[in-house]
Amino acid sequence: MAHGSFPGRNPTPSSFRERERLINQLQADPVFRVAWEMNQLVEHGYCTPMGGNVSMRLSNGIMAVTPAHVDKRLLLPDDIVYVNIASGNYDGGPKHRQPTSETDLHREIYQQTEAAAIVHAHPRSTVFLAQLDGNMGQQLINALSTGVPEYAVSWATDEGDAKASVTKEYEMMWSKELARQVATEFAQGKTIVVMRNHGPIAIGATMTQAVEQIMLLEELCSHALLKAMFGQQLLHTEAIPEQLRGNLVTAGTSYLKMVNEGNK
Ligand SMILES: [Zn+2]
Repeated sequence: MAHGSFPGRNPTPSSFRERERLINQLQADPVFRVAWEMNQLVEHGYCTPMGGNVSMRLSNGIMAVTPAHVDKRLLLPDDIVYVNIASGNYDGGPKHRQPTSETDLHREIYQQTEAAAIVHAHPRSTVFLAQLDGNMGQQLINALSTGVPEYAVSWATDEGDAKASVTKEYEMMWSKELARQVATEFAQGKTIVVMRNHGPIAIGATMTQAVEQIMLLEELCSHALLKAMFGQQLLHTEAIPEQLRGNLVTAGTSYLKMVNEGNK
C-alpha cells in the first residue's frame, strides 16, 4: 500500500470536508454542542459514562442540558432536554428523558450569573483536591495560581488570585443548598468551583471557556501532584500546607522505592 493512502495517516480532502461539516455544526447548534462535549469528556477520561453534566443557555430563558441515567458515550443531540431556567419546567426534547439530577444547580448558576455554558465532570486529580481536609484544597489552588506554567498564566486574575475556589462546607449533591452555595461563588467572580468531596464545575461566556477551565485545573492539579511526588518543589512551595507537602513526599518516596525495587 502506498504510504500516502494509509487511512488516517494523511488526512484526505474528504476527511477535511467531513471535519469542516462537524465543526460548522458544533458552532451553529448548541444542542449538538452539548451532546458532543459530554461525549468528549467521557472519552477523554474526565468522567465515567454515567457521570458529569453539561448545559448551554439558549434564548428566551431556556437551557439545553444533558439527560440523567444515560450512557454519555452514546449520547446524541436528540437526547438533550430543554428546561425553563426560572421555573425548572420541561420545555422540550425527548419525553422519555429526564434532565440531569443537577438541573437545579445549573438553573441557579444561570440565574445568578451571565454564563452561557456550564460543564461539570470528575477529573481524578481535581477530585483528589476536592477530598482534602479543611482548607488544604483552597490553599493548593492558591499555590497553583501563583506557580502556574507560563502557558497557563491567564488562569489567575490580574491581581494574582485564583479564579477557582473550593466550597467551604460540604453540601450533598442534588441539594438546593449546594446549588445556592456554588452559584454564590460564581456570582462573586469565580469561573470554576470545586465542590467539596465531589468535583469541579465551570462556567464560561462560551462552551470553549467552560471546558478549558475544567481541563486546565485538572492539568495544574496533576502537575502539582506529580512534581510533589517526585520530591520537586513547586515555585511557591511555602504556599502548600505543610501537612499536605509531607504526605505527598512520603507517597512519592514509597512510589520511587517500589519502582526501584521492581527494577532490580
Ligand atoms: Zn458530579
